[in-house]
Formats: sequence, structure tokens, C-alpha cells
Amino acid sequence: MKWIKSQWTKKIGPPVFSLLLTMIYDFFKQNPFLSTIIEIVKWVGNTIIFILNYEIKVWWILCVIIAIVIVIIFINLRKWEIFKPDFCNYKKDRFKDWKWRWDWKYYSNSRKWDIISLIAYCPKCDTQLIDHSNVYEQEYRCPRCKYNARSVNCEDPIDVKAIIFDNIEKKKYNK
Ligand SMILES: [Zn+2]
Repeated sequence: MKWIKSQWTKKIGPPVFSLLLTMIYDFFKQNPFLSTIIEIVKWVGNTIIFILNYEIKVWWILCVIIAIVIVIIFINLRKWEIFKPDFCNYKKDRFKDWKWRWDWKYYSNSRKWDIISLIAYCPKCDTQLIDHSNVYEQEYRCPRCKYNARSVNCEDPIDVKAIIFDNIEKKKYNK
């Protein structure tokens, strides 16, 4: 680093340096956009320092924690099924000839209640019917009295679900 110590650098260096500073200053002066950015950066820095130096009371932190806990509880109330809507007690009905039973489940992703475990009962002996349906044909059989229903004689679970929802909408149901 001989050039730093040389006489030539000592003479030329300071004027060149001050010229550079003046050029940079002028450049920023002519560019209000850049000087605005510098002002913003300064403001952000000062704000961060102000926040970090701020005196915080313990009860403020406690209030924030309590507020967060309340929000979490409120969001999860429906998932925990504490506040079940009225129709959740509507779990059985007869639509054509068959009696059906089902349960309700809340899906937090879709934020909707849906019917689960929809089961048909034998119209003759009230035993759970076994679904033997396949892609070609619908078929239900009673394991007790051997009651058997095929295709058009079967009640379709999709139709049953639709009727249940329609009954809820029209408030036409008994709990
Ligand atoms: Zn039966």
C-alpha cells in the first residue's frame, strides 16, 4: 500500500475526496426520490430504536396474551363442537319407506357442517341395512329378515342427504 503514503496521494487525495462528496451530495439533491428513500430508512431506524427503548409494563404483555388466547378459543369453539347449531340434534327421519339415521361433523377447512355415517334401516324389522351396491347397481339387504331392495326400490343416500339439507333450510324437521 505504498501509494497511500506517497506524497502525490497526500496532495491530490483530500481535494478529490471532497469533490466526490460534493458530487454525491449533488446527485442526491437532484434526485428527490433517493433522498426520500434515505429519509424513510432513517425514520424506520429511529422508530425501531424508539420501540426497543420503550418501557413495557408487564400487564400490557398479559393483556396481549389473554387477547390471543380468547381469539384462539373463539376460532376453535365450533371445532370443539361447544356451540352446535340447532340442526345437529336432527339425526333421524323417515323419507319414503326407510328410516335413516346420521351424525353431524364440522369441517373447519370448508367451515361447514356435513352429514356423516348415514345409515338406512330395514322398513320391516328396523335393523341396519347393509349396502351391497356396486358401480352397476344399488342394492340393500337386511341381515335379519332378508329384506332386499334393488335399484329403483332403493332410496338413494345422495337424495336423502339433499332432502335433509332442504328440511333444515325450510325448518321442516323434528329434533
Ligand atoms: Zn329387516
